[in-house]
Amino acid sequence: MTDLIIIGGGLAGSEAAWQAAERGLRVQLYEMRPVLQTGAHQTHDLAELVCSNSLGSNLPDRASGLLKTEARILGSMLLECAETASLPAGGALAVDRELFARLVTERLQNHQNIQIIRAEVKAIPNIPTVIASGPLTSPALSQAIATLSGEEHLFFFDAIAPVIHAESINMNIAFRASRYGTGEQDEGDYINCPFSKDEYYAFVDALLKAERIELRSFEEAIRSGVKAGHFFEGCLPVEIIATRGIDSLAFGPMRPVGIRDPRTGKRPYAVVQLRQDNLAGSLYNLVGFQTNLKFSEQKRVLRLIPGLENAEFMRYGQMHRNTFIASPKLLRPTLQHMERDDLLFAGQITGVEGYMGNIATGLVAGYNAARLHHDEEPMTLPQTTMLGALCHYVTHADLKDFQPMKANFGILPPLVSTSKIGKRDRGKAYAERALADLTFALNEASPAEVNEQ
Ligand SMILES: Cc1cc2nc3c(=O)[nH]c(=O)nc-3n(C[C@H](O)[C@H](O)[C@H](O)COP(=O)(O)OP(=O)(O)OC[C@H]3O[C@@H](n4cnc5c(N)ncnc54)[C@H](O)[C@@H]3O)c2cc1C
Repeated sequence: MTDLIIIGGGLAGSEAAWQAAERGLRVQLYEMRPVLQTGAHQTHDLAELVCSNSLGSNLPDRASGLLKTEARILGSMLLECAETASLPAGGALAVDRELFARLVTERLQNHQNIQIIRAEVKAIPNIPTVIASGPLTSPALSQAIATLSGEEHLFFFDAIAPVIHAESINMNIAFRASRYGTGEQDEGDYINCPFSKDEYYAFVDALLKAERIELRSFEEAIRSGVKAGHFFEGCLPVEIIATRGIDSLAFGPMRPVGIRDPRTGKRPYAVVQLRQDNLAGSLYNLVGFQTNLKFSEQKRVLRLIPGLENAEFMRYGQMHRNTFIASPKLLRPTLQHMERDDLLFAGQITGVEGYMGNIATGLVAGYNAARLHHDEEPMTLPQTTMLGALCHYVTHADLKDFQPMKANFGILPPLVSTSKIGKRDRGKAYAERALADLTFALNEASPAEVNEQ
């Protein structure tokens, strides 16, 4: 007898399997490697880290550190293995990747309630299921998900434009305006960074010379334009557009039509538009600036944009293969499918990004699958917690611009405070509020039965 099927033995699926099994569910964990490879994974181990060996900051007043504190409180098995396999890395949690994956694989193999099956799942099972098949979900399963949820609700590439902190924009150079003055806000919906002809040419030159992240075999399509998120037409990185002619950006994402610089009264030669990225207005994204430059190069080159010389980046731009669903339309914050209570999603496929975020959403899905099994209400974590905010973000974001999101303070509800809090103290205040609310929520929820056989 099987109580729960989990598809994918990566970060999210491994954590989900553990959480459900610990609460007495008989779990079948399907992992297609080594029968079928993803192109990015190198080993047969469960919970293989495909790239960096860092799970991000461990400092309690950083976004990623707060997420770890919460996951620790919630009893994350993968975090425990990461801590056992940790290496010296300053304030970050870096691990020996082989030891980490081996520890997780052994814990799962040795759990009496877990059966690991090495096979590709091609159809969505009709019993309680967690889909945690990750950014490189196999084509057959992708097709099954598209059939269940609609082709238009499944995406295959990320085209993420960089996001910067509003307070780091130099408003002595940048100015607010909407094209042809057609915006909703009187002062204009966008922040515009104006270029003279010389500034534009210098910028394009730097962009063309900047170092790019190497494309993997399963990402080659990016060179010729891919469908990414809701961009149904060919979506290209800015540095590729720039190779098509020195003025191609000035006629594309940097076109200045309908924009006048209030300081000169003239139309700039080119413009980079910044669009508000969160309700609080503390974050702005660079419109149409999906890019594949190395992160350090993005910092250097994008700071050449007039008005962004001191830009602080919340997120760098990226373009890579990434299967994810339209969670704002398809999922509830409990990670249950809108139309099927016993079907949950976890990990990168939900639109949550980053190793730790994927582990943590696996925890939520496994925990909630157990609660459902025990006839308990699945839990929605408070939005003031980092994990609750991630689950809330992916299930409530504006679908038009939906792109994967990692842990960051910008997705938390703003702090209510009468006095201005400095940046350092803000992290601490967010963390204190999150942990108080998490403790309260856990006390409210009656825990699912443990080890019911
Ligand atoms: C190339 C690449 C590099 C990345 N680098 C980083 C990084 O450095 N730092 C970071 O924080 N994040 C990174 N990410 C993003 C993300 O954090 C990782 O991909 C993370 O492993 C995702 O966790 P997951 O559990 O959702 O998916 P995964 O860990 O990929 O697990 C999904 C599992 O499902 C299996 N599977 C797929 N389809 C099926 C099927 N039909 N049947 C059975 N099994 C199936 C896969 O083999 C895989 O083992 C990267 C992503 C990619 C693609």
